[in-house]
Amino acid sequence: MFFERVARQDATPAGAQPVMRIAIVGAGPSGLAVAIALMRRLPQSFEAWMIDAGDAPGAFAEGAGGAALTAEPARDLSVLPDRPDDFARWLGDDLVARGIAPLHGPQDLHVPRALFRAYLLRRFSEALALRRDVRIRTVRDAVRHIGPAACGVHIGFQEGESAVFDHVFVATGFGLAHRETTSWQEAREVAARISAMESPPPLTLVGNGPRLAAVLLDLRARGFAGEIRVAVAPGGLPHPHGRGPDGAVFGQPPATRSLKDAFRYIRQECSDAAAREGGQWQAVVDAASARLGVVWRNLPPAARNRYRRHLLPLHRHFSIRIARDVHRRLAAEIETDRTVLVPLRQGPVKDENTVDCREIPAARALAGMLGCDPAALFADECGHLLSDGAPLPGLSAIGAVASGLRPGPFTFAETVRQAYRGVLALPSRRPTRAFGG
Ligand SMILES: Cc1cc2nc3c(=O)[nH]c(=O)nc-3n(C[C@H](O)[C@H](O)[C@H](O)COP(=O)(O)OP(=O)(O)OC[C@H]3O[C@@H](n4cnc5c(N)ncnc54)[C@H](O)[C@@H]3O)c2cc1C
Repeated sequence: MFFERVARQDATPAGAQPVMRIAIVGAGPSGLAVAIALMRRLPQSFEAWMIDAGDAPGAFAEGAGGAALTAEPARDLSVLPDRPDDFARWLGDDLVARGIAPLHGPQDLHVPRALFRAYLLRRFSEALALRRDVRIRTVRDAVRHIGPAACGVHIGFQEGESAVFDHVFVATGFGLAHRETTSWQEAREVAARISAMESPPPLTLVGNGPRLAAVLLDLRARGFAGEIRVAVAPGGLPHPHGRGPDGAVFGQPPATRSLKDAFRYIRQECSDAAAREGGQWQAVVDAASARLGVVWRNLPPAARNRYRRHLLPLHRHFSIRIARDVHRRLAAEIETDRTVLVPLRQGPVKDENTVDCREIPAARALAGMLGCDPAALFADECGHLLSDGAPLPGLSAIGAVASGLRPGPFTFAETVRQAYRGVLALPSRRPTRAFGG
């Protein structure tokens, strides 16, 4: 196991009460949002371990991944829920300090993710500087098992070691099977390998989201001129952000326990909202995302699972959009002969010239770590995990992994809201009972 101390060693004064022990599994944007929320909102002393299988905090924005543009505009990327324009303001100041005057307001910009990472790490270190009673460790290891301990939650690591925490925030995003860094690495390796061949076979990219678009455009920007086949996952290519007015609102959802009634409500509200908004489907999808959590809460588990199996991936797909400029470049690329769309084959992606760029929330992997049935696992609006409707004390899922366990909104703002709600719901004292205990 690899430890790197990023905070002071003398955090706990001698003779003080034992501090709360918290684990954050996953050091992507969601894990960082949780760490910031803890430092800003948890009044008591704590020690937090930021655990990641491979990536250091913020590694999502290294190399090519850092040059790719954020899918959301700056106005939607604040990590401080009490200051929704925080990132846009930070960005404006940063650009002015570099002598760049943005043509549009910085709130509309999609910026290289390295800038978003710089902002997150800035807010992280500012929050840490104000907390002399907090200790944060980064740990590089894969978590294999999470389960109840006599007093807390037990984490088992791949290397065989284990540790017990009072609370565990799971922010494993797309999991180890769909790690973003792997897609970038593999795409570059496959491109380099087949470019050296006399008759190079096509390179196939599988996906339907921002990652697919970014990897494809990166390969072309690096001069890869071979044939690329794009095997499009359900929903089709990613959509660009629309220009229309925001703010469609659905009426009060019924307190129904029937999936049929829930769909009737959604269908009716969608057509009403579409008529009101002049056919702005994105505003309608967003309005549905904001309301579906309430409809979902009332549904029995079997109905939730039907929704989750058949509709959640499509709901996610239509909720996540890419920058208009990236979409324009993607569409132009698809127009050329060298990039062709092909149908997605069923089954796992195995071929050595195929790179999996799908963004599949790691809900199944999380259920595997917990040793429970994936169909029984749900997350509430604070990210608290439930299995078969019973809470799993001491456990929350935040960000992309939680988006596989409940309906949208699938935005960074929602991740931040979950992180703060999860932190504010922590018990004020160390808990005495573990889940299953
Ligand atoms: C070009 C591009 C633009 C994007 N723009 C946006 C945007 O504007 N807004 C937005 O919200 N998202 C955006 N995304 C997606 C974003 O980068 C994040 O991947 C996503 O928000 C999910 O973040 P996360 O922290 O939940 O998960 P991830 O980014 O997937 O991070 C999860 C981390 O958990 C680790 N991990 C997984 N399983 C384990 C385990 N068992 N043990 C230990 N560690 C584990 C992984 O190594 C990984 O580092 C974009 C993606 C791309 C490619």
